[in-house]
Amino acid sequence: MVSLESLVGNDALRARLRDAVAAGRVSHAYILEGPEGVGKRSLALGFASALLCAEGSGVPCGRCSHCRRSAHPDLSVIEGEGKSGAVKVAAIRALRADAYIRPNEAERKVYIIDHAETMRAEAQNALLKIFEEPPAYAVIILLTASLPAILPTLRSRAVTLSVRPLTVEETAAALQRLTKKRGPELLEAAEHSGGRISYALELLTDKRTKEAAKLAEEFRAALPGELYTLLTFAPRAAANRDLFEAFLSQLYQQMATEAGLTNLSAVHIMEKIIEIRQKLEGNGNLSLLAHCFCLDCWEAAH
Ligand SMILES: [Zn+2]
Repeated sequence: MVSLESLVGNDALRARLRDAVAAGRVSHAYILEGPEGVGKRSLALGFASALLCAEGSGVPCGRCSHCRRSAHPDLSVIEGEGKSGAVKVAAIRALRADAYIRPNEAERKVYIIDHAETMRAEAQNALLKIFEEPPAYAVIILLTASLPAILPTLRSRAVTLSVRPLTVEETAAALQRLTKKRGPELLEAAEHSGGRISYALELLTDKRTKEAAKLAEEFRAALPGELYTLLTFAPRAAANRDLFEAFLSQLYQQMATEAGLTNLSAVHIMEKIIEIRQKLEGNGNLSLLAHCFCLDCWEAAH
């Protein structure tokens, strides 16, 4: 099982979770909030192993019967299903029914709900019932990139902790540990990832993502320049549909990471990206769409 000690970054947060277990002061509900890809799930899994370990010191002992398991019967991860990828009310009802049955082996039962913001009001209200009367042994951890999407009634009954993106050095260290690779491409992926470890891994391993990221970076550099230069990106980015989609997604991530919400033209460009993605779904003409997109972005930047 993942341990909090094996993770990189968010030191204060990891210490807080470890100390809560060691002191026996664990809340029934936690919300880990932070941008997509910063490692919320790994943190939650690390916390879960500390909660399930028989020694309860906050650091999994690695020797007890709980620590030695790869999958634990008292740990459940609930994820979205179907086309919408939403966490369904049925899954929450199943969680509720299960939570009132005593733990199988450990002293606790831990539930992790990933992408909790996808729960509709019905699902969140079903969860509220267990937040109001939690069994003593249950710990429920919600993971979300969008805290405002969680009902205030749930938020007020949970401990909310913010998960921060890693620094470039922390990301590079984590990449090295995870991939066993070394070299300049590690640092490059770390620099471009905005501290989101799963995105950095993607950059490091996926060739098309890498190509699209480079193109998006050149595009950003060309934004303040001449219109005709920016328009030369249209045929390059729209060489094929996959590349264009990857380019848009990279551009969006780069804008979101570096711009901050005060930069209005970046916000406009992000809106343009959302718009053009919708048009792409409608099977619009690729080269025409790319051309208009470049034009729109140039206007937003000038
Ligand atoms: Zn243990």
